[in-house]
Amino acid sequence: MGTEVIYVLKAALKARNGLWRRIEIKDSQTLGELDYIMREEFGHDTWDHLSEFYRGLVWKSEGFGEIYPDADGRGTMIQINQLDLSEGDQMEYVYDFGSEVHHSITLEKIAEPEKGVLYPRIVSKNKPEYRYCELCTKEGKETIATWICIECSEGEGRSVLLCEDCLEGEHCDHYADEIVY
Ligand SMILES: [Zn+2]
Ligand SMILES: [Zn+2]
Repeated sequence: MGTEVIYVLKAALKARNGLWRRIEIKDSQTLGELDYIMREEFGHDTWDHLSEFYRGLVWKSEGFGEIYPDADGRGTMIQINQLDLSEGDQMEYVYDFGSEVHHSITLEKIAEPEKGVLYPRIVSKNKPEYRYCELCTKEGKETIATWICIECSEGEGRSVLLCEDCLEGEHCDHYADEIVY
């Protein structure tokens, strides 16, 4: 023993199980590193808001410590191999204790690392179900929507989906969220 292994994790957004990422991370890497890739992949801020990992799929079970995005916080430096996880075990990941975005993480298997690979990395993800910009659609163009205008969506009671260019038009002062596929 003593050789390094990688953990193959499947992470999914709880409110939208069709959105998932398969992540490989070395057992010597930290929850801070896992937090960063979770934030990037699920469209969360990497510069703001607290997050935390929990044992089991239960929020407020055994927490592994808060993580601040600036690599601070009690959970940040904890190594994956300190969590005592076995294949099949699950964790809860909560981003932002204001809006509380919940994710499930399952340890699918423990495997040998490949030489010359940078970890953590994404090895697979859900097949994207693209939605299209409504303004472009009106002009007969098919452009993938990358933004949802929160302000217009709330005002109109439906999802107002836009591409980058159209968001910068009449919606440029509106509060918008990036769409993750
Ligand atoms: Zn557009
Ligand atoms: Zn708008």
